[in-house]
Amino acid sequence: MAQKRWYDYLWIFSALYLVLGFFNILFAWIGLLCFFIPIIISAVFGTKSYCGRYCGRGQLFQLLGGKCGLSRQKEIPAFLRSHWFRYGFLIFFFTMFFNMLYNTYLVFAGAGTLKQVVTLLWTFKLPWNWAYTAAGVAPWVAQFAFGFYSVMLTSTVLGLITMLLFRPRSWCVYCPMGTMTQLICTAKNHKKINL
Ligand code: SF4
Repeated sequence: MAQKRWYDYLWIFSALYLVLGFFNILFAWIGLLCFFIPIIISAVFGTKSYCGRYCGRGQLFQLLGGKCGLSRQKEIPAFLRSHWFRYGFLIFFFTMFFNMLYNTYLVFAGAGTLKQVVTLLWTFKLPWNWAYTAAGVAPWVAQFAFGFYSVMLTSTVLGLITMLLFRPRSWCVYCPMGTMTQLICTAKNHKKINL
């Protein structure tokens, strides 16, 4: 059996992240690491090593669906693999992401009020006020945390559903970060070839 490396345990970080956001929403800011690190790795090295090694979320799905046997291990439907779905989902995801940033801006500019809710699947508003104490941070900082945690929780729930229904890492087939880093790698390597 291959020896375990430190990065094989990053699934703990992903699980802990969701738990911490349940107690204090400001921990949601840590999730930016999962946003910037894959972009930096793909832009600098032109590889998807973040997905292959360092993504705790992918590991978590593998663990729950594989070792824990929670996945039906069925083939993922062809439409989820298709370009139109993956790129369409990427566009939709980032549209919602920028909408979240805009709501943060409104609170920052004083044109909106802080909403202490976590929005699941871009639809269901869950009260989450226990996780915010208003201690020493500006309202926009908290608004971003609520919004970003919503994004992370929504993608985790979608990933868990597809893990249960299909293969453990089915989420990785249409994960917006995976699609985006793939595009960055393609562009980077294309540029290298043309130099
Ligand atoms: S595709 Fe998404 S969830 Fe899967 S390993 Fe890459 S970043 Fe992680």
